[in-house]
Amino acid sequence: METLQDRIICREDFPFLAQSKIAYLDNAATTQIPSTVLSAVEAYYRNGAANPGRGEYGLNLQVTQLYEQARERIAAFVGANAEEIAFTAGTTEGLNTIAQAYAAKMLGPGDEVLVTAAEHHSNFLIWQHACKQAGARLIISPFDANGRLDWDAFKASVSAKTKIVALAHVSNVLGTVFPIEDVVELSHEYGAKVVLDCAQSIGHLPLNLHALGVDFAAFSGHKMYALSGIGAMYIKQDLIADTSAFMLGGGMVDEVWESQSSYLDNIRKLEAGTPNVVGAISMAAAADYLDGIGLNSIHNHEKELTGYLLGCFSEIPDCKVHGIPGNANDRTGIVSFSVKGVHPTDVALALDEAGVCIRTGTHCAQPLHRRLGVEQSCRISLGLYNTFDDLQKAARTLSGIRESLGRRILGMFP
Ligand code: PMP
Repeated sequence: METLQDRIICREDFPFLAQSKIAYLDNAATTQIPSTVLSAVEAYYRNGAANPGRGEYGLNLQVTQLYEQARERIAAFVGANAEEIAFTAGTTEGLNTIAQAYAAKMLGPGDEVLVTAAEHHSNFLIWQHACKQAGARLIISPFDANGRLDWDAFKASVSAKTKIVALAHVSNVLGTVFPIEDVVELSHEYGAKVVLDCAQSIGHLPLNLHALGVDFAAFSGHKMYALSGIGAMYIKQDLIADTSAFMLGGGMVDEVWESQSSYLDNIRKLEAGTPNVVGAISMAAAADYLDGIGLNSIHNHEKELTGYLLGCFSEIPDCKVHGIPGNANDRTGIVSFSVKGVHPTDVALALDEAGVCIRTGTHCAQPLHRRLGVEQSCRISLGLYNTFDDLQKAARTLSGIRESLGRRILGMFP
């Protein structure tokens, strides 16, 4: 079976993977970094660092230009305009900023915020908090037995009271791709704004925020093969004026007087303090790398692998996949599962011994795990460099896990 590796030697592009035999299957947590991104990071420091927008000397102007070019590159990567993109420390900071800079002041008693039951804590706690502060109501829309949004329930939850609909593009536990166009159309009918958490779609699916029609979005560099500590948020152009500066400090001001101050009237008002220039450059380099392969090819490759993985799971006794079990459509390469009678930690340790890295726990989604009826789960999550070989390694270990651990573990976890 042809893989992306047969077409492009991706694993070789990643220094860590090229020199290790590890099957890295924890890409929803963080991705490895390709050499082109490492080179861009090194080149930035080799050519001289500066604090962008804060000097008139040549090096400063050059770095300012690099930083603004990175903004343009990321905007193009996600189908937005540069003036709609602000750099953040990551998805969490982006979502918190959106909640504080826009949503908090828009919400009042009797208003509603709608989220799904599959949200990551980063896109859940902020709305729980904002609702408590405003006296608004948080509505949690369920998913069906297959991990898809329960559309009837969702539809019934949207009304003129709904001010914000906040949801993940892709569930970080179930791998479900939520029907964003439908959500946007319905939400806008009632005047609600849509906040999209793109942490798990960035780098895996082609992303066009203008085409999706969402009002706000956030994503992280470290989930798209760039550095950690950097991310970006999107605010639709005509909503920027309705946002208030959230963090105050250098770089976001217009005039500062002893008694009062005014702030920039563009999206840079949400970028207080010295920006993470090298992080932004790493994201731009990662966007170049990903576009060089093509997001459609990456998505298809991960889809093929996911189909194969789901096939393996259907043959492994006592493994239960949570969410869409039978096919690789409407989902990405995130597959969470439980092994009957074996604690997730023991599953992860057995896989680690076989050179396979996976995540276990609640993946920052405790409410979702409660709805699934499990305390924790194991999660395999794919990236563009994964191979059938990686999955076979995982499947081999999982097939024998109850025999190798069972007698000891079953006593502890009946
Ligand atoms: N949302 C989702 C769906 C995620 O998977 C994650 C990362 N696990 C986040 C938000 C938060 O991202 P970060 O930790 O990079 O801010």
